[in-house]
This record gives sequence, structure tokens and C-alpha cells, in this order.
Amino acid sequence: MAGNRTFSMIKPDAYEAGNTGAILKMMEEAGFRIVSMKLTRLTADNAGAFYAVHKERPFYQDLVSYMSSGPIVALILEKDNAVADFRKLIGATNPAEAEDGTIRKLFAKSIEANAVHGSDSDENAAIEGSFFFAETEKF
Ligand code: ATP
Ligand code: MG
Repeated sequence: MAGNRTFSMIKPDAYEAGNTGAILKMMEEAGFRIVSMKLTRLTADNAGAFYAVHKERPFYQDLVSYMSSGPIVALILEKDNAVADFRKLIGATNPAEAEDGTIRKLFAKSIEANAVHGSDSDENAAIEGSFFFAETEKF
């Protein structure tokens, strides 16, 4: 059975552009409850560890620099079928391919600076949530 929590980040480009409020509104209007939320900033080491699965990819160093370039908002979100439904709400990695009405279609600047992160599995949602939040910060 699909789990009911996912992990998200509002990435530096979206925070910097002042789109945090609009993105949070879309998350809540789509039925996601905010379990945890934190405005923070990743060090390059943190960003490298978070995206370690991509370390052999050509874009890895740029991704680490970008993700540590400014504040991010880390979130744990709750809804039935959270991981899949949230991936649908954010749209394709490349905003040029994202469906109308998705967060990335509306707010992403490029395939790299694509406004939001969404976990790709229940297992990664749990790992990524615990990367940012202690059990006592999960409401
Ligand atoms: P995320 O994991 O951030 O939710 P995703 O699952 O849609 O995004 P991944 O394949 O996991 O996409 O890539 C992680 C991130 O790496 C992307 O969100 C984007 O910021 C960056 N990225 C992915 N592909 C490219 C690329 N071809 N060029 C530059 N950056 C990329
Ligand atoms: Mg991913």
C-alpha cells in the first residue's frame, strides 16, 4: 500500500523569486497537510549528500552549487498516496515538459532551477524527511 507522507523542498530559485507562499498554497489546496516545515540553507556538503544518488551524473556539481546557493524550505507533507500525487502536482523535471497547472510549469526557471523537489518513493520520503527533521518536529 502506498504511504501517506512525502518530502519536499522549495528550491533556492523559487524562494528567491518570492514564490514560497504561492507554492505552499498550491500544496495545501491540493490536499497536502504540512507535517513539518523549516526555512534553512544547505551547505555544499549537505546538498552533495542529499543528491548523492546523482553523483555520477554530469550535472551533479552544478546541482550541488545551485542547491546550496540560497535558502530552501524543507517540508514533510501528508495525504493519501502522497509520493505519487505530489509528483503529479509538481510536474516533469524539465519545466518545458511539465503539464499546465503544475508547480514546475508555473514557477520553474530551468531543468536545474526547477522550483521544487518531491521524493520519488516512500522509502526515500522517509530518509529525506529524517535528513531535515527530528521525530519531535513531525506534527
Ligand atoms: P527532484 O529529485 O529534485 O524532485 P526529479 O526527481 O524530478 O527532481 P532527478 O532526476 O531526481 O529529478 O534530478 C534531481 C535534480 O537534478 C532535478 O530536480 C534538477 O534540479 C537537477 N537535474 C536533473 N536533470 C538535470 C539535467 N539534465 N541538467 C541539469 N540539472 C538536472
Ligand atoms: Mg528525484
